[in-house]
Amino acid sequence: MKRKSDPAPKPKRQATDEQAERVEARCLCGSVVLDIQYPAFWAWHDHGRPSRLAHGAAYATYVGTWRKRFRLVKGARKVTRFEDPETGNTRAFCARCGTPVWYERKQSPKWINIPRALFSSRTGREPRYHLNIAEQQDWIYTGMPLSPLKGYPGVVWERPKRKKRSEPTPMF
Ligand SMILES: [Zn+2]
Repeated sequence: MKRKSDPAPKPKRQATDEQAERVEARCLCGSVVLDIQYPAFWAWHDHGRPSRLAHGAAYATYVGTWRKRFRLVKGARKVTRFEDPETGNTRAFCARCGTPVWYERKQSPKWINIPRALFSSRTGREPRYHLNIAEQQDWIYTGMPLSPLKGYPGVVWERPKRKKRSEPTPMF
């Protein structure tokens, strides 16, 4: 016989999508806002040409997550898509400010990739992986020591490497 003080068995609580912690991403002008469930699945740098050109950058850093954990919060009418005819991959961007907002690969329809830079908070994953590393550009900044540039406040620069005297002078 059950005593009155016996606690009723608690129903198992599962975190629903509404209860899960979410992190927000937004484009430069703020027209497009999206969020994903925290943490993201993974994060990586893509040095491949399509991502470089789509971002106008040396490489693009993405955060990947399941599509079902992704939500377009605001700005659906501002989102424009470009489908790459070669790969069938789709890149969405803000039609107002041009910020790339997500990237979908045709071969991975359950996944969606969002530029890391759009998040102002942590995403739960560090970008420790590299795709297309063989295409890494030789003009990329990789943490060389920098010095202030005289006469240009706010500008720092990488000093040219000192030539050793024993090195032959290159002929041009
Ligand atoms: Zn925008």
